[in-house]
Amino acid sequence: MGELGTSIQFLSGVGPKRAELLRKELGLETLDDLIHFYPFRYIDRSSVQRIADVDSTLAFIQIKAKVISLTEVPQKRLSVIVEDDSGRMEMVFFKGIKWTKTKLIPGATFIFFGKPQEFNGRFNIVHPEIDVPQEGTMTQGVLTGVYPSTEKLKTGGITGKVMCRLVSSALNLCLPEIGETLPDYIVKDLGLCPLQYALKNIHFPSDSYALQKAERRLKFEELLFLQLSLLKQKYIRSRNEKGIPMPHVGKDFHACYEALPYSLTGAQQRVIKEIRADMMSGHQMNRLLQGDVGSGKTMVAVLSALIAVGNGFQACIMAPTEVLARQHYANMQKYLAATSVRCALLTGSSGTKERREIQEGLNDGSIGMIVGTHALLEDKVQFKNLGLAVIDEQHRFGVDQRAKLWSKGPFIQGLGQTAPHVLVMTATPIPRTLAMTLYGDLDVSVIDEMPPGRKPVKTICITPSKRAAMYKFMRDEIAKGRQIFVVYPMIFINEKMDISNVEQGYEDIVQAFPLEKGYKVAIVHGQQTSEVRDYNMSAFVAGRAHILVSTTVIEVGVDVPNASVMVIQSAERFGLSQLHQLRGRVGRGAEKSYCILVRDYKTGKDALQRLDLMCATENGFDIAEEDMKMRGPGDLEGTQQSGLPINLNIASLARDGILLSEARAYGEKILKADPTLETEENALLARELRKGKYNIKDYSKIS
Ligand code: ADP
Ligand code: MG
Repeated sequence: MGELGTSIQFLSGVGPKRAELLRKELGLETLDDLIHFYPFRYIDRSSVQRIADVDSTLAFIQIKAKVISLTEVPQKRLSVIVEDDSGRMEMVFFKGIKWTKTKLIPGATFIFFGKPQEFNGRFNIVHPEIDVPQEGTMTQGVLTGVYPSTEKLKTGGITGKVMCRLVSSALNLCLPEIGETLPDYIVKDLGLCPLQYALKNIHFPSDSYALQKAERRLKFEELLFLQLSLLKQKYIRSRNEKGIPMPHVGKDFHACYEALPYSLTGAQQRVIKEIRADMMSGHQMNRLLQGDVGSGKTMVAVLSALIAVGNGFQACIMAPTEVLARQHYANMQKYLAATSVRCALLTGSSGTKERREIQEGLNDGSIGMIVGTHALLEDKVQFKNLGLAVIDEQHRFGVDQRAKLWSKGPFIQGLGQTAPHVLVMTATPIPRTLAMTLYGDLDVSVIDEMPPGRKPVKTICITPSKRAAMYKFMRDEIAKGRQIFVVYPMIFINEKMDISNVEQGYEDIVQAFPLEKGYKVAIVHGQQTSEVRDYNMSAFVAGRAHILVSTTVIEVGVDVPNASVMVIQSAERFGLSQLHQLRGRVGRGAEKSYCILVRDYKTGKDALQRLDLMCATENGFDIAEEDMKMRGPGDLEGTQQSGLPINLNIASLARDGILLSEARAYGEKILKADPTLETEENALLARELRKGKYNIKDYSKIS
């Protein structure tokens, strides 16, 4: 494989320690990795700012200024005042003071480059890069790449400059051996630049035009492979997967429908039609149902299950936790009252006798519907003829577990062992256009309408200075008979989860809401055993506790209509979609509901923007859309949090929408001509796809 597979360790200036750091912090191991690790931003070194124009919105600035004076606070810092024709500014050095003093001679002019920060109402730059101004043109190119970095990398000596040098050596060693990944005809057809040119210029652009060409080539390639891989799966599936034909609707569906205490929203009706068409089609349904929290997905699940029952098959509904399974079961009982369907509940805590009865009912088909947790997946649970599996809040289910479910499908005359239809429900709001792409191998239904009568949740953001007022408000709400959620973020220290935060929070709340005065406070977090957690959770669900203090374990699906207040502590630490999910836990009952975001005094600009957005809108799709826009591709933390099942290296699903649809159309064209990518001219495409880089990870892949 030549140099590409060589460990980064052997680049000059790296060694085992820094190699380990690069692996841990950025996941970079080989020269190949390094070459495909792109800058997320570029600094235009040709532009120089005036000191008077410096403000905090500028990420990096470059100033050409004369040194006026140097003042040293011994053993502490060196302060250098510089001046251009618009004003004066301070440069601060804590390290390398001796060297700096010999270099920055008063009266001489330098280029200072760095990130301005505000200090006592004025701007300074700490540890700027210093250059001697060069007259005439620069041969190096004026755009310098900025690579994603972390605090640990910087303290480990891997600065931006070092990173540039490493990439440059890697390119020098390897560039000639990097072969094209796109067939010639595509490169020509679309006027793309060659891969080697693109890689060189994405790191070290010779000018902004070259950078544009490089970006376009690399982004298009990434999106094209993504689309090809999705479209191929879809193609294979539609050819192969025979499904159980379910031509009827059945009397139980109608009975349930007519007994509903409300009428379905237009969106619910549309989605049920889509599901029905799938189940009738003779192909296996693989549908993702997206709907904001509270949009009424449960009803859709019930009616879909009744279609299966109406065709003589069984249906199961899986929930990620015991509490949710029980909640679903209770709801089912209500909805099924008007029907003759027998519904069972199976969880980890079902007793032996109960299990035996359930198993009998599943065997002889007298149980038409079963709600449960992972317990449903155990080998010993067998169905007479499972025709539909509904999975609620799918991201807690792994691929293996899903495979188990499929193997529980019935034996059908003429088809053999057949996988049940699958409906996956999620409240993770992903912009609609994006979902179409992400779930290109699935069919997507969206409930984009809320049931009528839902009251908006009033959202405010406060600092801890308002705590007393907040407690008073909480007491008033409790006096009105309402319940309250108080959520703390989970904090990770050395990969271990720290719960001292929520435990401390619990202490505080119990002090403000003491048992002697009749207040009952429950606590739930991930370090408890599932029994303890379920017990405490149930206490709140059943109304025995006034306040539930918890980590984000309550994020998914719990319905406590009587809860009217959601307090989110350290709200600045949460991502937008998480905040949205949490807020969705209230506003489900008849009462006016509130969400109180408690933020730290020192909250960064980005976090403030998120909190503002939360106060401004309740629309999950708007929030998701904004969320995507706010996150930069170089935001390492962001990509981990985004919850999207793929990691793109350079393209952004949110921002490169046009290129994305181009890639999709082009991918369709390629596959139309050569569905299995067998022709000589597509050999390169097939080879790249086999590497599996573009496969969707885990959760969206449900077949
Ligand atoms: P989610 O999509 O979050 O799972 P649920 O299915 O739990 O939402 O529904 C939220 C609440 O809205 C439930 O109390 C349910 O009874 C109610 N609901 C569902 N559909 C309708 C409707 N069409 N009209 C009025 N209320 C509805
Ligand atoms: Mg739900």
